[in-house]
Amino acid sequence: MGTIVLYPAPAMGHLVSMVELGKFIIKHHPSYSIIVLTLTNSFNTGSITSYVRHISATIPAIAFHHLPDIPLDLETYPSTDSVLFDLINRSVHNVADALRSISPTALIIDLFCTSAMAAAAILNIPVYYFITSGACCVVELLYFLTLDRNYPGSFKDMNRLVYSPGLPPIPSSDMPAAVLDRSSTDYAGFLELSYHMPKSAGIIVNTFDSLEPKPLKAIRDGLCVPGQPTPPVYCVGPLLADGSEGLLHECLKWLDGQPKESVVYLCFGSEGFFSSDQLKEIAKGLEMSGHRFLWVIRSPPMVNNDDLSVLLPDGFLERTKDRGLVVKKWAPQVKVLSHESVGGFVTHCGWNSVLEATRAGVPMAAWPLYAEQKLNKIVMVEEMKMALSMNESEDGKVAAAEVEKLVRRLMDSEEGKVVREVVKARKVDAVRAMHDNGSSLMALAKLVESWQPTRTLSLS
Ligand code: UDP
Repeated sequence: MGTIVLYPAPAMGHLVSMVELGKFIIKHHPSYSIIVLTLTNSFNTGSITSYVRHISATIPAIAFHHLPDIPLDLETYPSTDSVLFDLINRSVHNVADALRSISPTALIIDLFCTSAMAAAAILNIPVYYFITSGACCVVELLYFLTLDRNYPGSFKDMNRLVYSPGLPPIPSSDMPAAVLDRSSTDYAGFLELSYHMPKSAGIIVNTFDSLEPKPLKAIRDGLCVPGQPTPPVYCVGPLLADGSEGLLHECLKWLDGQPKESVVYLCFGSEGFFSSDQLKEIAKGLEMSGHRFLWVIRSPPMVNNDDLSVLLPDGFLERTKDRGLVVKKWAPQVKVLSHESVGGFVTHCGWNSVLEATRAGVPMAAWPLYAEQKLNKIVMVEEMKMALSMNESEDGKVAAAEVEKLVRRLMDSEEGKVVREVVKARKVDAVRAMHDNGSSLMALAKLVESWQPTRTLSLS
């Protein structure tokens, strides 16, 4: 009973995951209502506004409270993360006003929203973090204060392995992009987060217990926050959008005509793009592999051309039209991955994509691009054994021959078969985790229990 306030970072991926958490809470605990704090600004208004309108129209138990706009000069920020941190930090008084008027039972914040903790503390509202990435990322967030002490200098210049509890050694250059440069404002923001996170009432993670046992054990054993208690960790995933908005997309009809598990699907998230040269290498590699493919292409930002044939090798679309489909910008990924014709996924290792492939039982080839994706890749390949690794050259480029080799390894090699079996087993685990008595549903029950007022026993 009560209201839970969710405060996502104002970026689509974070907002969608947070709303999925809200849906999960009210589905199983309908006595709660949800209010989502939203921030819009010139850099995100369009997509967020239409998504909010859609949810408001379809799920009345989730309401939105719009925080006042803060004018920002986007040109002056070095990165998207720095925009998010600054926008959220400058909204702290507005968050305090909202919390005072709503008086919620609990506040659940995104990792960018640490500044809201102070406002909640004054009002005595417990604060929980919701991490839209995996437990491997939570390890690095909690352990970051220790890493900062153990590894003086910038990860980008170190050229050594970084050791964290519960994780395989990570090459320093593969650490999350936001913390590569010690002098950056993003690095300072994550240090601040690492300091405050252990003081929260709990950490909710979009993962499930059997997907990441080692990082979760390290967190729960207190190894990531030496010398102080670690808050409870609630794994409530996989929380994923149902993808119903894409049901009529042309690529689904095309997939209907392909044999079972024959198509390799390539998609690089909501922001991933390649240079024109790299796109041509991918195209050549796909053609040489001889496999069927569905490829989502986002044009490089400087190329203002909607005509895909300009970005691809001459005659590529014509030569591959019987076994390949290229779509511009977006495909309904959840539906694509769960289509029985899809047999492999070349992914940028965004956490939602990883969970979506897991739930669909589709083996992956890891081609990380930005954010924490290189860290995810190492865990996916070395620990989870759910992905094959792609070899980049020193300068980060991938030649056509490597793309060809990767697709063949994924689709018709012995090692591809092993990965496929592991992912199919994890698919069963993912479904089980969300069912009655499943680990994620039990974790949600414990989380909700933590919101109940503590009963004091009367001795009289
Ligand atoms: N997505 C999609 N179609 C596309 C590209 C992305 O449906 O063509 C969805 C995908 O299913 C996932 C989200 O966008 O839910 C991307 O999230 P992820 O964490 O994988 O990567 P990000 O975009 O945040 O880097």
